[in-house]
Amino acid sequence: MNKKIVQVEIRQAKAVNFENKFFVQALRGNSFGEIDRRGKLMIFRLKKSFKISGSRVITSVLAHLKMTGQLIYEKKIGKKVEVVAGGHKLIEKDFDLPNKHTQVIFTFDDRGELFFNDLRRFGYMKLATVEEVQKVLSAFGIEPFTKNFTYENFLAALLKRKVTIKVALLDQKKIAGIGNIYADEVCFCAGVLPTRPVVSLSAAEKKKIFVCITEILKMAIKHRGTTFKDYLDSEGKKGNYTDFLKVFDREGEKCGRCGNLVKKIKSNGRGTHFCPGCQH
Ligand SMILES: [Zn+2]
Repeated sequence: MNKKIVQVEIRQAKAVNFENKFFVQALRGNSFGEIDRRGKLMIFRLKKSFKISGSRVITSVLAHLKMTGQLIYEKKIGKKVEVVAGGHKLIEKDFDLPNKHTQVIFTFDDRGELFFNDLRRFGYMKLATVEEVQKVLSAFGIEPFTKNFTYENFLAALLKRKVTIKVALLDQKKIAGIGNIYADEVCFCAGVLPTRPVVSLSAAEKKKIFVCITEILKMAIKHRGTTFKDYLDSEGKKGNYTDFLKVFDREGEKCGRCGNLVKKIKSNGRGTHFCPGCQH
């Protein structure tokens, strides 16, 4: 934050929404003054706005990591490297930067560098005006951890949904911020199969799901979600965020609650994990 961006290198034109030269012009010499989040969307607010054409004034960069995106900040201090990284599963070789998945590189005036990596390239960084940011933000539903996230509002968000609970949980227009991993974990926590139609859920099950959303997200934050922050040196590698996950990415492993084997299916196009023993 507040560091001057001295260089922007776009390695994949598709990762940004403007002609490369505009993207670079808007950001070079600028700095990120504030970072917000709504749902899974990150909003990097620019210190200086940038007039792009006519009355369009760019004020922010919207960034979405989608399925495989990562943001890795690195700054070399002597032999040590300060690393702040977040996003999808980080393994040691991800820190060998830039790599073939690097889409955009920001270089700051203190020689720190921010890398936007994305293996499957669904993620993006978009320049946006105040109006565009507002429009995007208004499309999101209730934000867990805000006072609006009450049981009543949660029930209202689920109401009349003919979809499965997993699809309902993933719907960002209703509840913001639950992605594929945490939708599976919430269903496990609540003892409910992710494939259950919302209309089939009992009042007790809905209550359980509501409580589990906060519980699981809190746990994720405590374990820094998929975020990783530390100093790396030549020997040092740091822990794995996936350790606390109970079903996600654990196909064929024993369920910690009942001992049955965790299953993985495709449901509405998404890899879905559950325990057939204790989720009903
Ligand atoms: Zn089980």
